[in-house]
Amino acid sequence: MRDDNCIFCKIIAGEIPSRAIYEDDDFKVILDANPASKGHALILPKEHCANIYEISEELLAKATKLAKRLAGHMTAVLDCDGLNLLQNNGEVAGQTVFHFHMHLIPRYIGMKNNDLLNWTHEQFTDEEQDHICKILALDAEN
Ligand code: 5GP
Ligand code: ZN
Repeated sequence: MRDDNCIFCKIIAGEIPSRAIYEDDDFKVILDANPASKGHALILPKEHCANIYEISEELLAKATKLAKRLAGHMTAVLDCDGLNLLQNNGEVAGQTVFHFHMHLIPRYIGMKNNDLLNWTHEQFTDEEQDHICKILALDAEN
């Protein structure tokens, strides 16, 4: 299923050019047009789904498996020193293209954007953390 107004659906269909580094029945992996670092890539599922809330567990599992494979491959080829796997959901979380994607961002010691994901810590009291822990507790499925 595709969304005719979605830029990534158009890229997947080849209607908008991209630099693809991998393609199979379920995914296309492209270089980000505005890379945070050398080799910054995006894993795009071919099926249109907006975010983690919409993607099926099966497809997400396949995407994660592919991320693992690409992380090793990219690190070997690019000789990077680390790599961030990043996935934004919703505008408030920094999502700008509303077609699920995983960022693979190679990291290099001394690189320009080394503070890419730096955030400051928020302070919560022990009581607040206890409460958050309690309301987030989720039963195991098995
Ligand atoms: P988000 O902020 O939604 O997590 O990430 C969207 C990413 O898609 C951004 O890093 C942006 O640079 C990239 N992007 C947006 N439009 C295009 C495009 O047309 N081609 C490619 N290759 N990347 C794009
Ligand atoms: Zn789409």
